[in-house]
Amino acid sequence: MAEALRLALDEAEAYLATIDTDRIAGPTTFPSAEALGGTLPERGAGTLAAIRELAAAHPAALRSSGPRFFHWVVGGGTPAALAADWLASTYDQNAFAWESSPLGTRLEELAVDWLKDLFALPATWGGVLTTGATMANFTGLAAGRRWWAERHGVDIDERGFSGLPALPVFSSGYVHASATKALAMLGIGRGSVQRFSRDAVGRLDIAALEAALVALRGAPSITVANAGEVNAGDFDPIDAMADLAEKYGAWLHVDGAFGLFVRATLAGMGLGRGIERADSVISDGHKWLNVPYDSGFAFVRDRRLLAGAFALSGAYLPAPGEHASFGYLGPEASRRARGLAVWATLRAYGRDGYRAMIERHLALARHLAERVDDAPDLERLADVRLNIVCFRYRPPDVAEADLDALNARIGKALLEDGRVYVGTTRYGGKVAFRPAIVNWRTGEEDVDLITDVVRELGARTLAAV
Ligand SMILES: *Cc1c(COP(=O)(O)O)cnc(C)c1O
Repeated sequence: MAEALRLALDEAEAYLATIDTDRIAGPTTFPSAEALGGTLPERGAGTLAAIRELAAAHPAALRSSGPRFFHWVVGGGTPAALAADWLASTYDQNAFAWESSPLGTRLEELAVDWLKDLFALPATWGGVLTTGATMANFTGLAAGRRWWAERHGVDIDERGFSGLPALPVFSSGYVHASATKALAMLGIGRGSVQRFSRDAVGRLDIAALEAALVALRGAPSITVANAGEVNAGDFDPIDAMADLAEKYGAWLHVDGAFGLFVRATLAGMGLGRGIERADSVISDGHKWLNVPYDSGFAFVRDRRLLAGAFALSGAYLPAPGEHASFGYLGPEASRRARGLAVWATLRAYGRDGYRAMIERHLALARHLAERVDDAPDLERLADVRLNIVCFRYRPPDVAEADLDALNARIGKALLEDGRVYVGTTRYGGKVAFRPAIVNWRTGEEDVDLITDVVRELGARTLAAV
């Protein structure tokens, strides 16, 4: 055992020693299934042989925890979070209940409390750690679903949907695919969400939202507000949505998978204003908190609803008692002790450390926007309100009709090149790059590489057509 762990430490040190400058995915040779054992071994190869084979496969690991990975919204792991995550596996605690892990439960209680404090959410709210924002959306919306059915006089978690009307769900065009997936998992249905957009980008048409709420004549509904959409990091007008939710008696759920972190900064409270008025709020740990996969959090104003939605009982199970039993407040029973990594990184770096990192990332995004604006062959497509810069390659002599295909081709070349990793999207119908700055390691030289590489590959792609 000790030798296996030493091998793992050596491998981790070697892997991380070059993560700052490694190609994200070079001209990788993926390990064949044969190199990894082929079919189920009749006779085991032994502990050390297995770990050595795994370490030998590390060239195939995408360097997504490095500072030049700007695709999607992907954080790295801080040293404290990574080390604590190793210990979570070592102690192998089941953070189901106090009785199964006092340590895991205590650290999750602290993690939830500290996160509420970091995000300036009321201390009285309930909360639970999840595997990510998708399950956090599921958790928050499950609480909303319970509230909605109670308004119809039904315990939905006991009785199910039978006899209830369809549950109306409203949002802007910014609503994330994981929220609609959560609605599907909850039996509410992906297709149930009505998106009120006033433009091709998806910005909220608040008059249309209000009209829909009026048309319900007091019947309960759920509104999903988005704090940080994925194309440009924009926010819905959450304070105004909270006004409507209050006025018409709707549940307000906020998806702040990364955007919620703006509330840890001094300047960010304007953008995130009103989130504390919501009924449920969620975010991710494996994005801007920079803890290893998988980690997310859901916060709910009325903690009683979490306990109702996720109740679990059996003669052999502990009765809900004086301590929080997180297995009774979220979707899973047996659970990884995710509180260890969340607690450790907050203990290590504090509010100050996170505030400084997020403000640095916001400044880097503004810096990147300036570099885009200064380049004659780049065009910025959106205001930079957060940590994402949405732009495209646009040399003066290329017709508008050809730009989408050109940018899609550059996007493909960029992922193959691997010096930086930036995804493409469609923004208001246009193919665009959308680098997101979330990794604690990222500095100015990493961000500068984005425009350098896009322009270099852009010129090369243009010359080749
Ligand atoms: C990433 C993201 C999600 C989904 O998060 P997972 O952790 O991948 O489940 C949900 N909403 C938004 C806005 C996101 O950026």
